[in-house]
Amino acid sequence: MSRVETISISSPADLPSVDRLLQDVRLASLADRLGRSCVVNGVRAVLDEGRADLAAGRKLDIAEIPDSVVAHIASMAELSLRPVLNLTGTVIHTNLGRSSLSEAAINAMTLAARQPVNLEYSLEAGKRGDRDSHLEQRICSLTGAEAATVVNNNAAAVLLVLNTLANRRNVPVSRGELVEIGDSFRLPDIMRRAGARLVEVGTTNRTHLADFEAVISERPAAILKVHTSNYAVAGFTKAVDEKELAALCRRHDVPFFIDLGSGTVVDLEQFGLPHEPTVQEALANGADLVTFSGDKLLGGPQAGVIAGRPDLIAGIKKNPMRRALRLDKMTIAALDATLALYQHPEKLAETVPSLRLLARSLENIQLTAESVERAFLGVPQDDWKVDVADCFSQIGSGALPTESLPSVAVRLTPTGPRKVMGKRLADIAASFRNLPVPVIGRMEKRAFWLDMRTLEEPNQLVDQLDAFRWPGSP
Ligand SMILES: *Cc1c(COP(=O)(O)O)cnc(C)c1O
Repeated sequence: MSRVETISISSPADLPSVDRLLQDVRLASLADRLGRSCVVNGVRAVLDEGRADLAAGRKLDIAEIPDSVVAHIASMAELSLRPVLNLTGTVIHTNLGRSSLSEAAINAMTLAARQPVNLEYSLEAGKRGDRDSHLEQRICSLTGAEAATVVNNNAAAVLLVLNTLANRRNVPVSRGELVEIGDSFRLPDIMRRAGARLVEVGTTNRTHLADFEAVISERPAAILKVHTSNYAVAGFTKAVDEKELAALCRRHDVPFFIDLGSGTVVDLEQFGLPHEPTVQEALANGADLVTFSGDKLLGGPQAGVIAGRPDLIAGIKKNPMRRALRLDKMTIAALDATLALYQHPEKLAETVPSLRLLARSLENIQLTAESVERAFLGVPQDDWKVDVADCFSQIGSGALPTESLPSVAVRLTPTGPRKVMGKRLADIAASFRNLPVPVIGRMEKRAFWLDMRTLEEPNQLVDQLDAFRWPGSP
């Protein structure tokens, strides 16, 4: 049998058997290419759906079954993780994968993925080595720390530090710093899971050195300061000076731990950006341990760096929990290559994509916006107005929450009745998400905005416009 005849059926008993369907020419050739079991699974899935349809009283055309099987197999082969264009205006966007990696990091990762590497093997001694050896020296020379280790992300770094230093012991934290960062990182919850007892100090808007002095005589395991990276308390506020807090800790021999979050290791002002506290500053101010993310302002892979006092780092390395939080070889390769780029600080605005996007000139963004606007004007229709408009980008991932970066967007504004505006904006957002490389923008001030800061190559969008469908008229 080379094809199934067009027959409409209404009873499951009339469905063809798996074996019969496998004789269909297209399915037989697919089985040759992909293996029989893949096609059998596809056939079974489609027959199951067919049975459900028939049970629900729908009719089924047997001739369509092979098509459905081919479509099912194709959909199973589609990867779930797909490239998108992030035109939201949030440069380091957690939901869209934070930092894109440098070419150097990508190459290093590919190499480590493809073949065996000296991950935990000393080529000098010819025996077992240490995973951290690839990164520790670079981190130390870059930050001025004396020792360092690296884990899966910054949340893991905070967890590991607290569990090592403060299991069943007190850790004072200012009430102004009990942060929640994105979904599921809430400092009090992490502290509890680490075994540490949170001692709240001061108030939401004002915490004084005296508040810490009052609790330090109880010999806490550490004092924790959290960089309140994703919000700002404005108005009548006071936070304790880092140096003063460090001095207090030193007098009482209590480790001072700063969770920096974004953790840049270069002065962002050189890129025309507002100042963000650096790891070097935190250590110079007297922090005994500092933790920060690999994929925020550093511009590397997801990772959490712990840097600071050698005796404390040695204790952290001995914690069995570290084994559960360790980095894989590809992340180590990418982080190693990212850190290596910091040896050429003048080149960072070219080599590290996150910094390149943040440092991009307004004139350059404007040119991209104009060329994208022209491309849209080539696809005219009546219900939408397309123009170029000034906007603000954000760094994202909690860095510099109150500062915004001037940028330029292509703005799509629905014309016509106001009352269906919300639906029309949702529809155009969906049209952009339906492009071959989905485009993610943002809705604001009754328009749909595509921030051009993060579109370095206009053709990534323009070449897709053939496939763009304006949503139906209101
Ligand atoms: C982002 C952030 C974290 C969590 O870091 P991940 O790398 O996302 O795990 C923790 N603390 C602060 C202050 C942060 O900004």
